[in-house]
Amino acid sequence: MINTKKVIKQSMYETVMNQFNNTADIIDLNPNIRKILGITNNEIIVHFPVKMDNGNVEVFTGYRVQHNNALGPYKGGLRYHDTVDIDAAKALAMWMTWKTSLAGLPFGGAKGGIKIDPRKFSDSELERITRRFTYALGENIGPEHDIPAPDVNTNPQTMAWIVDTFMSTISSSERSHNQHVVTGKPVGTGGLEGRDRATGFGVYLSIKLLLETRNQTLKDKKFIVQGFGNVGYWASHFLTQDGAKLIAVQDAHASLYNAKGIDTEALVQHCEPRKGSIQGFDGATEMNADEFFGLDCDIVIPAALGNQITAENAFKIKATVVAEGANGPTDKEGEQMLLENGVTIIPDIFCNSGGVIGSYFEWLQNRNGELWQLDEVMAKIQKKLTENFHKIHAEVNKRDVDWRTAAFILAISRVETAYKQRGIFP
Ligand code: GLU
Repeated sequence: MINTKKVIKQSMYETVMNQFNNTADIIDLNPNIRKILGITNNEIIVHFPVKMDNGNVEVFTGYRVQHNNALGPYKGGLRYHDTVDIDAAKALAMWMTWKTSLAGLPFGGAKGGIKIDPRKFSDSELERITRRFTYALGENIGPEHDIPAPDVNTNPQTMAWIVDTFMSTISSSERSHNQHVVTGKPVGTGGLEGRDRATGFGVYLSIKLLLETRNQTLKDKKFIVQGFGNVGYWASHFLTQDGAKLIAVQDAHASLYNAKGIDTEALVQHCEPRKGSIQGFDGATEMNADEFFGLDCDIVIPAALGNQITAENAFKIKATVVAEGANGPTDKEGEQMLLENGVTIIPDIFCNSGGVIGSYFEWLQNRNGELWQLDEVMAKIQKKLTENFHKIHAEVNKRDVDWRTAAFILAISRVETAYKQRGIFP
């Protein structure tokens, strides 16, 4: 089962700070800029009451951390999960700054969410929780200031409630122009065709492009996926379409194995009425959760939570590629073991950046009052990801470093340049 309860030796915040400090040393980052980027700009914590279906009132805690906006408005998702706290939000916000910078977008980085297990609430309770959270955030979010999006356990419906609440309550005289306060909306509410599959598509494409550098294709490659939410499903969909075989899937409730390949479309249909759980799927057999990462396969895709590949399991990994669909799935010790064993890690800030690239196009579409077709959106996402892949690859070769280090060098250098050009107010 996914590692949420075990004692976690390293927090996600420690992981990201360690990655940042390593890179800052390598590029000899300007010490003043290092001070700025090593800390978040704003950390917002709100407590808000919501009436439950049974008439009782519960008070919830929500977070929004804005790490940096040197390159543009703050950008990043909102997650609903028991593991959400200020440290997790800080780490995830910082990763967003590097992700948007690396992607070449005019955005900064933010992240937030609510510390809840959404399965414990009815749809109408989740709607009231989301609306009241949006109201509590007030003008801390905004279409030109901080633009949330879906993340773990949030979806287009969540975004639709946010946009409706924001546009109904905000005092701006131009309420009707505020649709781009969030991205990842349903297509009927200003959402972008293809935003649903953008992250998973990017995970698939990053693996395909990496294999191409080894003169290999996806045909008959075996892969395993941890987490079968939006990212895990769509990545599996595109990979199997291109000839790869999904042999195992794991989520918080079960680990499933089928040497002949798991039917991704049948599995997603199985999950829908079960609040996303893969448990009980008859197209595979249950396996021991502890053996999941050690399965004989070519590609491992962690697409769930942070700190899943650690000293406890990294040495078991037989795959040659770990593609980080999740944010921060590999901790420092886990990473060292993988690199020593010759495993290539496609780092989260590139691997799952298809989502925020899609969000950028949605934001542009709303801002310009346009409606784009699926094929043009996918072509734009593919072009941007491919260009970014080649930039990182060139950096890997130039510096003889691993892919995460190369990605971090490019990401931090772009923000450093912006600070050098702008200077520090006043
Ligand atoms: N939550 C996604 C991420 O971690 C998407 C963020 C966005 O589109 O703003 O990248």
